[in-house]
Amino acid sequence: MSGFRNLRLLILFGSLILATVYTVHQFIYSRAWNSPLQVVIYPINGDGTEHTQHYIDTLTNAHFNDIDQFMAREAKRYQLLLVHPTETRLGSQISQSPPKLPEDAGPFTSLIWGLKTRWWAYKVTPENDDGWDTVRMYVAYHSGQHVGALDHSLGLQKGLMGIVNAFALVSQSKQNNIVIAHELLHTVGATDKYNAALAPIYPEGYANPHRNPLYPQRSAEIMAGRIPTSKYASYMAHSLKSVIIGPKTAKEINWLKD
Ligand SMILES: [Zn+2]
Repeated sequence: MSGFRNLRLLILFGSLILATVYTVHQFIYSRAWNSPLQVVIYPINGDGTEHTQHYIDTLTNAHFNDIDQFMAREAKRYQLLLVHPTETRLGSQISQSPPKLPEDAGPFTSLIWGLKTRWWAYKVTPENDDGWDTVRMYVAYHSGQHVGALDHSLGLQKGLMGIVNAFALVSQSKQNNIVIAHELLHTVGATDKYNAALAPIYPEGYANPHRNPLYPQRSAEIMAGRIPTSKYASYMAHSLKSVIIGPKTAKEINWLKD
């Protein structure tokens, strides 16, 4: 029994080390911004319904243009030499859902889940999409019949991949792109800028922290996602047109030096 246990631990430990080495390389490479980061969107039918499938069937590259335009516009503001920081395209549909992170997951469970998720991604992703400069965004679409919070979306800094829960509704596609851009930026080092009540943190979660009067704000910071109208109220931006990348996020993703 103990031999088996040791073997399992050895395999776990070995995969952790391999994953870490690969991740560090990939992280440095992706944050150098020497060439456009390739972003591939893999749709997943999150609830298995026909409605969701129909929505996925209508998706094209054009649905995600917003993301590249947003990244290019913000890169220009920070005088990044690279004109197009990202090139986003639609990949093939993935039929297998990603492993679920238990709600009450502690650090160990989360670690195991992270490894399982990367193994899952490795299995379901076409080989040629697994490069140093490719971010894989798995977008699980759900029909928006019942209004309620979807599972949290996750951008895994480790491994240039993100899992996004999105609504299979045409009217939501602009907001879906905000969530995708947010998770995408996590993969290159950005951290969240909202508190436990989902309110943007002042000043880094505000698009214009020096505005006078401060409220209402007109835009959202991408890692906060919401536009504050007072200290206690905020609403989600409608599209990436009213979202910016703040200086703290710009530093985290290596667009701005200290
Ligand atoms: Zn986040």
